[in-house]
Formats: sequence, structure tokens, C-alpha cells
Amino acid sequence: MNPYRSDQPKQRSLFESDETANPASLTPNAKVAASEAHDPSSADSLAALKQLADACERCQLRSGCQQVVFGEGNADADLVLVGEGPGADEDRMGRPFVGRAGRLLDRMLIASGLDRDDIYITNIVKCRPPGNRTPLPEERAICLPYLVRQMELIRPKVIISAGAAATQGLLDPTAKITKIRGTWREWQGIAVMPIFHPAALLRDPGKKAPTWEDMKKVMSFLNQ
Ligand code: SF4
Repeated sequence: MNPYRSDQPKQRSLFESDETANPASLTPNAKVAASEAHDPSSADSLAALKQLADACERCQLRSGCQQVVFGEGNADADLVLVGEGPGADEDRMGRPFVGRAGRLLDRMLIASGLDRDDIYITNIVKCRPPGNRTPLPEERAICLPYLVRQMELIRPKVIISAGAAATQGLLDPTAKITKIRGTWREWQGIAVMPIFHPAALLRDPGKKAPTWEDMKKVMSFLNQ
């Protein structure tokens, strides 16, 4: 059983608890303690981090989605794939990359000699942007501590940033995916390979060939 797909009871948010129903009423020390308790960097496991994310209301995206889509997969993975954000299917199922783009991703992984369970899959924002719009830079920035802690806990050898939003959120807010894809980058000491998002491959099959070349670079790196 994958622990990250479990239907653990949803932790109440900081602002739902009796003690913190009115944050303004907290003493300064209590505010610091509450803030630290909900700090992603304080989580000592992916399960603990998922609990924090499930209770998160740090940005406006949480009010418009059904659930937080934290991520799933191998907690010791050498390869992590980071996408843009949950879509409608992901929001409904609570799992990343389960729609058409997800099925294409599965085929890309199989063609690369990987199984979905070999890797870890998550997104730059954990809550679905309304209407599947691109997450805003400030939303990416607010959610980033969850991804940072995920990477600190997993310590993969390679991160694939799939699409412009993930690449801009991780590497460079001005990055153009058409220019940067297929080139090795680094994030917090981890090798990063930007690729086109699988959804872009569905819209433009001409992007499949270069993406296959990018995946071959990743597999070559991992098999060194
Ligand atoms: S997108 Fe991230 S920061 Fe925003 S509410 Fe969801 S988990 Fe929290």
C-alpha cells in the first residue's frame, strides 16, 4: 500500500482548531509555537509533511479546490517529477497526474524502463488552480516550502521539472521552457532536467520527439 494515497483523516487547519480559532487572541509565544508547528521544514517524514499540507490554507488556491494533492510514489526515489498543479481529475482523486496527461506520463515512464511506483510525482502547487489556470508566481512561492521539504526528505538524484510553471518555480521565473528544456540545471544540489509538460505533448505531438531525447538524458544520468 502506498502511504501517500491513504485516506488519512484530514488534520484540522491552524485556524479551525479551538485554540487558534482567533489567531489574534494568541500570546506572542503561542503564535510562534503554532507557526513553527505548521512549518513544512519541521516535518520529519513525508507522512507528517502531508498532514501539514492537508491542513494548509496558506494561499487562495485551497478555497477553490476539493483537496490538497500532496504527491505520491517512492519515498526513496532517485527521480522526482514535478508538474504544474493538480487538474480536475487530480483534484477529484487526490493524486497527481491521473488524467490524460498522467496516462501519457505513464507511457513515457514505461518507455524509459521505469514504473510509476519507481519515482515520486508531485507538483509545484498542491492545490488546483481554478479553471486549470497556471499557478501565479506568488502561489508557487507560498507553496514552495512543501516541495523543498519533500526534496529534502527524498533526496533524489534527479528532478524532472515538467512544463514552464514548474521550471520557472524551481529554477528561474523568467525561464522559457522551449529554450531551457533538455539542458541540465541544478536546484539545491540536485540535477534538474526541464522537459515539456505531458499535457503540451497531447496538444502538440511534435514535442514528443525532443521530450524522448530529454528522457534519455535522464535515464543515462541515472544509470551512470
Ligand atoms: S497550494 Fe500549497 S500553499 Fe496554497 S493552500 Fe494548497 S498546499 Fe497550501
